[in-house]
Order: sequence, then structure tokens, then C-alpha cells
Amino acid sequence: MPLLDVSELEISVHSTGGDIAVVKGVSFQVNKSGTIGIVGESGCGKSLTSLAIMGLLDGSQARTTGGTVRFEGTELLGLTMRERRKIMGNQMSMIFQEPMTSLNPVYRVGDQIAEALRQHRSLTRKAARERAIELLRMVRIPRPDERIDCFPHQLSGGQRQRVMVAIAIACEPKLLIADEPTTALDVTVQKEILGLLRDLQEQTGMAVVLISHDLGVVAETCDFVAIMYRGKIVETGRAEDVFSSVAHPYTRGLLNSIPPVDRDVEVLNEIPGRVPSIEQNVPGCSFHSRCTIAAGICREIDPEFSTVSGKHEVRCHFALGSNNRAE
Ligand code: SF4
Repeated sequence: MPLLDVSELEISVHSTGGDIAVVKGVSFQVNKSGTIGIVGESGCGKSLTSLAIMGLLDGSQARTTGGTVRFEGTELLGLTMRERRKIMGNQMSMIFQEPMTSLNPVYRVGDQIAEALRQHRSLTRKAARERAIELLRMVRIPRPDERIDCFPHQLSGGQRQRVMVAIAIACEPKLLIADEPTTALDVTVQKEILGLLRDLQEQTGMAVVLISHDLGVVAETCDFVAIMYRGKIVETGRAEDVFSSVAHPYTRGLLNSIPPVDRDVEVLNEIPGRVPSIEQNVPGCSFHSRCTIAAGICREIDPEFSTVSGKHEVRCHFALGSNNRAE
């Protein structure tokens, strides 16, 4: 049984014209100790998917309208808040993009780490403080016995994100969802945080769902990958299979837009056009207005998944490298 099994997840957002489906039939699984990267541009539905898994969707703006989310076989959608609290922050936890908005500015970081421990592990104040110092050491914050009494604004951006990681792993969760955990950080600190997450995963055996707009980050970090475009997974599979034989033009576009590290370039490659707004009804393949190999059928029929090899699947009438390829 997979640790996390998301099946046919649907999420809608409210708009003046009525509900609009923004996540449509998303399915993926995460095994114990596994890592999946969910990648796509802003607005593709990846963060809404992670919020839905954690039960953090604001029902007044977005809600799940279909599908299932099972954690160790337990259906999470529809749990009461009380039932959910036993799992969230304990067996499943999450880190967000911007630690300054997640950490409470008026509490010392040590108290914020200890709060999770006291809530889920019933530790005494003294034991929670000792464990908080140990966690700060684990996330490689220097002089943890001093930093534990700092307020968030007294730490650097990288250190604040390390504190968020410490809070997330405080109760040794089986699953960590990391939503753009390095986007607000500079490149060097990004690498350090990703390295830290990898090391912690090896030490603790937790599974990780990494949400990112950066295919390069996911390629370095994940075993499995799911590429999302406009609310749907358009390509998925083992990372090594997807990156060695890219099948969807959108994935190819994302890869081509990663700047080379070994030379300067004057103009970066980009995927032409923009993601159509969520209000826009796009018939056929939702990528067709930006796809350089789109043909007539693409504007009429939305492609279903087809298998490239093994677990590598793609939604495209003309999967790159296939015999159907458009001329
Ligand atoms: Fe491009 Fe057509 Fe494939 Fe969509 S289905 S990605 S438009 S070739």
C-alpha cells in the first residue's frame, strides 16, 4: 500500500461566474521513503493540490470537489478537524515558501518548535526545549543553544527556513510536503536547504512531496516526477525515465528554459505565450496555444494518458519521440 495515494483529485475555486475547476483528475502515489516532485508554472494547481492534501484549503475560496486522498489507507478528505489534527503536524507536515509569513514574529523560534512537540508528544517544557535544540542542530543552525532564543527577524532567510524544516520534522513525520521551500532563497542557500532535506530524508526515512516551478531542482532531488499544466498532470514517471526521454512538449519547454550553468547566455529560452486564464474555456489540449507542434486534433480533443515505457506516461497526441510525432 502506498503511503500517500491521491486519486482523481478535483479542486474548484469560486468566481463571480460560478465554480471553476482548477485541479482536474490529479492522481499520484508516494511510497514510504519516496520522493515525488510536482512541477509546473504558477497557477497550474500544484500548491492547491498540496493544500488539499493537508486539509488547508480555505473553503470560502477553493474546495475539493472530487477524488480521494488516502494516507496509509485512511481517507483524509472529509475528516473532522479533530481527526485531522492527529495526523497533521505529526505524521504529515508541510513547509512553505516564505518562512517569514509562517513563523510567528512575536515568539522565539525555540518556543515555536517546542509548541509542535508539546501538542503532539506531550513533552514537558524542559524536554521540549532540549529536543528543539537537538532539532536546530539537525538542521545545521550554528550555536543552536543560543539561537533557540532568537526571534525570527534575528535570523537570516536561510536560517528561518531551517527553523521551518525543524518544526516540520519535529514529530518525525512519515511524509513531508515542501511547497517551493527554496524559492525565496538565493542559489547557494537553496542548494544547502535541498541538501539538508535529502540528508534528513536518508536519516529519518520520511517520504517527500516537493512542489516546485523549477524542473532543475526536482531533477536533482526526486525519484518520481509529475509535470502539471493548467490543473492536470501532463507527464509523469520515474525521474530518470522522464528526463532521459522527455515526451511532452511542455516538459521539453521547461527543461529548455533552465539557464546553463557553464556559460553566459544573452537571451533565455522561454515557452512562448502565457497560460490561459482559469476563466477561459480551452477546448482540446490546454497547451495547444503555446505548443510548437500542435495540430488540428489538439484543438479539439484533450489527450488521455498513454504509456511511454514502464510507469512513464504522457498526455499528448504527438508525444515527442513517438511514431505519431507531428511534422
Ligand atoms: Fe502539443 Fe498537441 Fe501534444 Fe498538446 S496534444 S502537447 S498541443 S502536440
